[in-house]
Amino acid sequence: MNELLKNCVLCPKKCGVNRYNDKGFCGATNKIKIAYYSLHQWEEPIISGTNGSGTIFFSNCNMKCMYCQNKKISIDGYGVYISNKKLKEIMLLLQEKGAHNINLVTPTMYTPQLNKILNSIKGKELTIPVVDNTSSYENIIALKVRNNRVDVY
Ligand code: SF4
Repeated sequence: MNELLKNCVLCPKKCGVNRYNDKGFCGATNKIKIAYYSLHQWEEPIISGTNGSGTIFFSNCNMKCMYCQNKKISIDGYGVYISNKKLKEIMLLLQEKGAHNINLVTPTMYTPQLNKILNSIKGKELTIPVVDNTSSYENIIALKVRNNRVDVY
């Protein structure tokens, strides 16, 4: 069990819930949930480059901005639960397909899980940069955990 998920204060909402058996404001549990992944051509040109950005859209959101263009994913929580192993495979697949980077779209709620995954492959099998595509609605605790494996914010 990850201690950060047992009393979740990963973002400024500071729900304090145990995500192993409850959900906070964001709607995320202890399991990673994603809506979509692809070689995304429509990020900023420097991120998409010529081949595309290896973008992974995480379900749920700790900010839930009412103007969000991805409402179905961020507010409605659309997506499927996947294992850490599967997410690792997706990152490596995107790299294999020519992605210039791995682009984590709103990773905040999944900080501890992503830290574990990136610690095991970044700089080893995963050699492309990691982009932290945050809403900026963050607590320093989550940024500190993710910081050692992120190249671009
Ligand atoms: S990440 Fe989710 S559960 Fe944790 S404090 Fe933020 S809104 Fe609450």
